[in-house]
Order: sequence, then C-alpha cells, then structure tokens
Amino acid sequence: ASSSLYEPLNESSAAALAARLGLFETNSVLQCEEIGDGNLNLVFRITDSKSGHSLILKQALPYAKVIGESWPLTLDRARIESSALVKQAELAPGLVPEVCYSDQTLAVTVMEDLSHLQIARKALIEKKNLPHLAGQIGSFMARTLFYTSDFALKPHAKKQLVLQYMNPDLCKITEDLVFTDPFFDHDSNDFEPELRPAAEALWADSEVKLHAAKLKKKFLTEADALLHGDLHTGSIFVSEEETKVIDPEFAFFGPIGFDPGQFIGNLLLNALSREEEDQDVIFEAIEKTWYTFSATFAASWKQDSRERFSEVDGYLDHTLGQIFEDAIGFAGCEVIRRTIGLAHVEDLDGIEPYEKRIQVKTSALELGRKLIKQRHNLTEPGQLKRFFRHAI
Ligand code: ADP
Ligand code: MG
Ligand code: MG
Ligand code: MG
Repeated sequence: ASSSLYEPLNESSAAALAARLGLFETNSVLQCEEIGDGNLNLVFRITDSKSGHSLILKQALPYAKVIGESWPLTLDRARIESSALVKQAELAPGLVPEVCYSDQTLAVTVMEDLSHLQIARKALIEKKNLPHLAGQIGSFMARTLFYTSDFALKPHAKKQLVLQYMNPDLCKITEDLVFTDPFFDHDSNDFEPELRPAAEALWADSEVKLHAAKLKKKFLTEADALLHGDLHTGSIFVSEEETKVIDPEFAFFGPIGFDPGQFIGNLLLNALSREEEDQDVIFEAIEKTWYTFSATFAASWKQDSRERFSEVDGYLDHTLGQIFEDAIGFAGCEVIRRTIGLAHVEDLDGIEPYEKRIQVKTSALELGRKLIKQRHNLTEPGQLKRFFRHAI
C-alpha cells in the first residue's frame, strides 16, 4: 500500500504499517485489534506476540458518523492531536502517552499503550479509590495552560502557536453541542420523553440563555492558552498510582477556565450518579483539583511570568478568580449538554431503575442552570457541596 494518500486502515494494514515503519523488532509476529469506542477515529492495538510489546495506532476518519452521515471532519485534527501530545509531554512530563510516530497524510498517531490503566469515567462509576487523579489533573492543567499563555510566552511565539492550533472543525462541534443546541429545541438533542418539561423550562429561561451566550462568546474569542479541549473523564486513564491524559484532538487556544470546567463538570456528573453517602470523595476531588491547579499556576506565575504587570497587587488573584468563575459556568454547560445533548455519559445513562435515572437527570438540569447563573457567587470550591445539595 502507498503511504502517499489517505486511506482508512484495517487491522492488517495497520500492523503492516507498524512493521514497515520499524516500530517493532524485525522478527516480531504482530497481532492487531481495533479497540476504539468512538465514532470519530480508529484505534488499533498492535502487539508483538513474541515479546508482548504493544503500541496504539490512532487514525482519524474524514467524517463524524456520530453527528450525521455527511458531517465532514478535517483530518488535520490528527496533526493537532499528535503535536498537542508532544507539547503536553514537554510541559507536564509523565502525564500523557509518549508519541513514537505521526503521519499527517494518513492522519495517524502511534503512541504508548496504556491498556494497563483504566478510563477514569469507568473507575469513578465503579467507585475506585483514585488518590492521585485530582492532583495530577490539577497540575496537568496548570502547567499546560500557564506555559502556553501570554503570561509565559513572548508575544510573537504565542501568536505563532495560536496559528498552529487553529482547529475550526472541532471547535464548531463544541460551539454547537456544548454551548448552543442544548439551550434550544434542536434536532441534535437526545433525551427521554419524561425530561421534556425540564428541557422546555430550560429553553424558556432567557436568563440562563443570556449567560450561555456569554460563555459561548468566551469560548469563541478568548485565545488565552492551549486547551486540551475535551478534558472529560473519558479522556483520562488512571490507576491508584498513575494518571495519563489522552485524546487532545479538540486542542486550540481558548479560555483557561474551559479545561477545569469540563473536568469539574464531569466529576459533578459522577457525584449526581451516587448516593449522598458516596459523594463526599467527589467533592473532595473537586477541591483538590482546584487547589492544586491554583497553587501550581501561582508558583509558575511567580517563577516564570514574563508579563510586566504580573507583580501588580491583585492581578494573580483576579486572574485565578476569573478562571474559577468561568470554570463553574463551563461546568454547568457540560452538565446540561451531557444530560439532554447529543453525547451522553455512562454515569447518568447507567442509572437504574429508569425512574431514578429520570429523577437524577432532572436534578442535573437544575444543577447546570444554577451553576451557570450563579457562578459569580461561587468563589471557592469548598462552597460547591452545599451549593449542589441546595440546587438539586
Ligand atoms: P476518540 O477520539 O475516538 O474518542 P480516544 O483517543 O478517546 O479516541 O480513544 C478511544 C479509546 O481507545 C479509549 O477510550 C481507549 O479505550 C482506547 N485508547 C486510546 N488511546 C489509548 C492508549 N494510548 N492506550 C490504550 N488504549 C487507548
Ligand atoms: Mg471515545
Ligand atoms: Mg476524541
Ligand atoms: Mg475520546
């Protein structure tokens, strides 16, 4: 097969490519399995059955089946994903899979196999003890966001990077599916008929829609830092010891609060799925995420800020306060869109029995609306537990 043109790989052509690229020893016997669970990309695990050594090969498809038969999606996202993984490895060592090969024509990234770890969403649903998740994600976000912002970079270098990570197709998905469609009676929404009254109440709430419009505008225009852009708990591999962030194909320069907001939003979705007595560990994780994020961001600021104003009284506190407020608003959008939008989460969809699921999803819509509207009044994560109990 020629590698000069794009073609979707299959299990045998993916293994042949890995062999041709010299990614395995010459005498190895390769086995290959497609393990992807999404509708945007192919993910192959290629294993040398002699040594047991394995790699992951991810290939972008030129369309998004999940959204509509004919929704074209640029292959350029494979370039964005592999270069974001390399940049994140440089800024937050050990917290992303190592990239060993990438090819823009085939839209392929070959990386370290993390199959010894578990996807965080699944581990949280199973109520596993994850003592390092919050701290490592807090630190990942602080380092990747601070060091790609104007606080750390020279203006020309920053703008060069902004251009390199222009990602309009993937941004459009977020603009539509997170910030727009769930706030209107749009075809892409997907929810149980029993939720219609709660959805209609949301669509009739012009106050929450004005706030959603403002949050969407931030996402569209604030090129603060290189976001991961899809930092939900399905994009994180974990064990009791390790945390690795995958799947940065939505990376672009956006508002710093977006990544913490999506991560916190997904922790809240998991809290919603739990009985009250099992929720505390999730609120503690949210607090630890924020304290690690803000302490790491502040330390980087003090050590490496090149902004002339960085020592002006109040500027760091103002910056962190604004990030927190934005994050709470983005978390609210995430909770709503995962409840009635196109892409759901297993935390809520897995709730049994059905009546309980409807009740929790109704609470999720209430929580999301209040987070969005009252984000100005929430100033620290310690307030979230009471706010949550009061909102639902
Ligand atoms: P998509 O962009 O289609 O969501 P992901 O990068 O999230 O693709 O990968 C989809 C799935 O493939 C993951 O949930 C995981 O099960 C598996 N996977 C992806 N990357 C790796 C990896 N480096 N090691 C092991 N499994 C992986
Ligand atoms: Mg997926
Ligand atoms: Mg993805
Ligand atoms: Mg994914």
